[in-house]
Amino acid sequence: MAFIGSLDQGTSSTRFIVFDETGSIVGQHQLEHRQILPQAGWVEHDASEIWQRTQEVIKGALANAGILANQLAGIGITNQRETTVIWDKEDGRPLSNAIVWQDTRTQEFLSSLSEDVKSKVTYKTGLAIAPYFSGSKMNWLLKNVPAVTEAVASNRALVGTIDSWLVWNLTGGVHVTDVTNASRTLLMDLETLDWDDELLKIFEVPRSILPKIASSSEIYGKTLASGPLGAEVPIAGILGDQQAAMVGQACFERGESKTTYGTGNFALLNTGEEIVRSKNGLLTTVCFKFGSEKARYALEGSVAVTGSAIQWLRDQLGIIKNAPEVEELAKSVTDNGGVYFVPAFSGLFAPYWRNDARGVVVGLTRAATKAHLARAALEAICYQTRDVLDAMSADSGVKLPEMRVDGGITANELCMQMQSDIMQIDVVRPKVIETTALGAAYAAGLATGFFKDKSQLRANWQEGRRWKANPGSSLAKSGLDNWKRAIERTLDWIK
Ligand code: ADP
Repeated sequence: MAFIGSLDQGTSSTRFIVFDETGSIVGQHQLEHRQILPQAGWVEHDASEIWQRTQEVIKGALANAGILANQLAGIGITNQRETTVIWDKEDGRPLSNAIVWQDTRTQEFLSSLSEDVKSKVTYKTGLAIAPYFSGSKMNWLLKNVPAVTEAVASNRALVGTIDSWLVWNLTGGVHVTDVTNASRTLLMDLETLDWDDELLKIFEVPRSILPKIASSSEIYGKTLASGPLGAEVPIAGILGDQQAAMVGQACFERGESKTTYGTGNFALLNTGEEIVRSKNGLLTTVCFKFGSEKARYALEGSVAVTGSAIQWLRDQLGIIKNAPEVEELAKSVTDNGGVYFVPAFSGLFAPYWRNDARGVVVGLTRAATKAHLARAALEAICYQTRDVLDAMSADSGVKLPEMRVDGGITANELCMQMQSDIMQIDVVRPKVIETTALGAAYAAGLATGFFKDKSQLRANWQEGRRWKANPGSSLAKSGLDNWKRAIERTLDWIK
């Protein structure tokens, strides 16, 4: 049993990575799936396609690693969070497309809740009242899809986040989720770590269709020998993607934090066994729970649009051919030329939580070029991240000594240097940047005894690259002031 597997089901792709005991990658395979956009504000995935891709990447990664499934001590699963799947347990088919975390169709339902109900939900769950989370998505499916109504009435419906869908398929019927995924549904009480009857009533979700909530690190079941692994392998870890990155970055202790730069940005701060309720627009969420140990909590700053603004420059404006090109273009000018870009495409997430905001480009003059816009897009990634980290310091009273980063954008040297200048602290990237997949592998490895304890995992973490701040950078002074003024101009746009 020399290896551990990790299934990483993300917003745009699915991959399977085989790790060895040092946390090094032995083999992997990755495939994209379709983004289905039926109308403005709606984002869906085909859960059958995701299951299909899952089977392919598992086989591909084992072949790439040159190993057999029976050499895996276990597998961990990490997933895009909040995205909601509902399926028929008799024939295993989804009853509707999955509703993705970015989808805003349930805004109206949420607005109809009374202020009393809203504050109760926020207190119990630690979340904001936003279409982002699974509860209102489940409510929508139950109310609007006739096949769902029928399946619920005849006791055939099961619902869950992507982790549940994959475990159910891999094991042939185990219906389970972990505390980190459940903490993103608006249906779980952060204190009891169980579905809450009052919340279930508000969102009109029957308990009978929900999965059992388990810890993030335990054996939930074994894969079917007739499945893509071709062997019975324990599934022994489940973590939502951002929580998995915390574990992969070895942020096990109170006060430790990381920021992941991908489609959106997600900063998490471990607050230990304490549930810290934010006064500054952050979310409170479960960080991880290893087996029978107590749950650890986190404060989270979620920014909806960072890497996807770079995709927008590529796909909608056509000013770059691929994401890495943005760095060359931005470097061709020495500053942003007074141009600020706030990519509030679907409103603003943390710390603002303004669904009425929409994107702006301000400060345009006749001299502005696409290079200034590219630079402004990179700065926007960094300023949005500074906004959530400032909120974190205000809530926790801790000024971060340095920032641990990971995710696709951290390949962009200019962006990371700007981040350090804007934050005025060091930015540090580990050697292994696949921290999300690594975190799920760690959770599975701890449950199966493949890894001894957290100190072994901590020893695996190695610094890969460090960016130091230029003291007195104007990005952290006048730049930050201008950024705040640009944010104001996005607000109150949608009536
Ligand atoms: P996710 O896991 O959310 O799919 P990744 O960590 O794979 O995201 O990062 C992909 C995102 O990062 C894309 O939105 C892409 O536009 C952006 N990106 C990738 N490389 C770069 C780069 N060199 N500079 C800026 N953005 C980049």
